[in-house]
Amino acid sequence: MHSDSTMIENKTKTRLEYGRFFLPGPTEVRPETLAAMAQPVIGHRSEEIQALIGSVQPELKHLFGTKRPVYISTSSATGMMEAAITNLSRKRALCLVCGAFSGRFHAIAEATGRQADRLAVEWGEANLPEDLRKLLAEDRHRYDLVTVVHSETSTGTLNPVREIAAVVAEFDDILLAVDTVSSMGGAPLWMDDWGLDYVLTGAQKALALPPGISLAAASERALARAGEIEHRGFYFDLLKFEKSLDRMMTPNTPAVSLMFALRHQLAHIVDEGLEARWRRHQQMADHTHLWLARLAAETGRRFEIIAPPGYRSPTVTAVRLPDPEEMGGPEVVNRLRERGYAIAAGYGKLKQETIRIGHMGDHTMEQLEDLLEELGKVLIT
Ligand SMILES: *Cc1c(COP(=O)(O)O)cnc(C)c1O
Repeated sequence: MHSDSTMIENKTKTRLEYGRFFLPGPTEVRPETLAAMAQPVIGHRSEEIQALIGSVQPELKHLFGTKRPVYISTSSATGMMEAAITNLSRKRALCLVCGAFSGRFHAIAEATGRQADRLAVEWGEANLPEDLRKLLAEDRHRYDLVTVVHSETSTGTLNPVREIAAVVAEFDDILLAVDTVSSMGGAPLWMDDWGLDYVLTGAQKALALPPGISLAAASERALARAGEIEHRGFYFDLLKFEKSLDRMMTPNTPAVSLMFALRHQLAHIVDEGLEARWRRHQQMADHTHLWLARLAAETGRRFEIIAPPGYRSPTVTAVRLPDPEEMGGPEVVNRLRERGYAIAAGYGKLKQETIRIGHMGDHTMEQLEDLLEELGKVLIT
């Protein structure tokens, strides 16, 4: 009785009550994608699963810009971040840190008893290739792995991953692992062309999938490194993922229903065109930046975008509020919720001072304009 009534209650909750998601994850999932999950579960050692995994590989490789197979992990993206640390460094990792998520790589290293240092800039700033080159050149044998976040979701900063990869390539024996959780599908990235050794992403950001699975690919070099490491963990052992994928399977029971959603959404992304999808995200970011500048001009107040020009993520914008003591991040979020939209307050230590707009996933420019109109009403009262 109780579960029945809860179900009915949940179903009658309208989108308005939850707010339309302009969160920097999870993002709005199209009803068609949700519906794609409503089919019978298939066995994870069946021919059906092999066909399913086999059918998504070409699209996944296209998405990552790689010829390497793409692993599907039943975990949130943090699991595949952990895999980077435990599989790819036998000496010491250098974690480029510019916000909360990039700092997580270092926290994982500490939690798993691995050696790691941080090369940190102020939250909002980007990690710059020349700083990295200088540090690596000081002692070229100290590190064997560099980690970087492409789009730092806590600050809206986009790191110059291609230039960072070029620096790492100057040093033999150093691998580069890249977190593209909030950029994959929303910002240009080519794993093979840029020479990235390990790329991971999540489901519930710009790919607009329900949370629960994550994706990663490793270069041959990265796999060889994993093979040299004795205690690389069990669940997140990259060699197990690679070996299973030879037979189009996963090491353990995967989230099959989410894979149906993945297949459906990948077809949608291919339909739109990956480059068109990147362009749409850039347009949404540009529009948001212009709108903020106009709001500042009209009100005579400062709405400062945290990330500097040239280093702004196409998928998320973090804005410093003009008077956070008067109206802080959580208050803006609550008031906007009453108007039918969900955005995020600042992340961690920026919670009060900032808000974050996730212009990512399948949103159109018109939907973004509607959101900004409501946000404007909240911000100028
Ligand atoms: C959301 C996010 C993560 C964490 O993803 P989970 O799926 O919650 O584990 C990691 N890195 C970045 C850049 C993110 O935006």
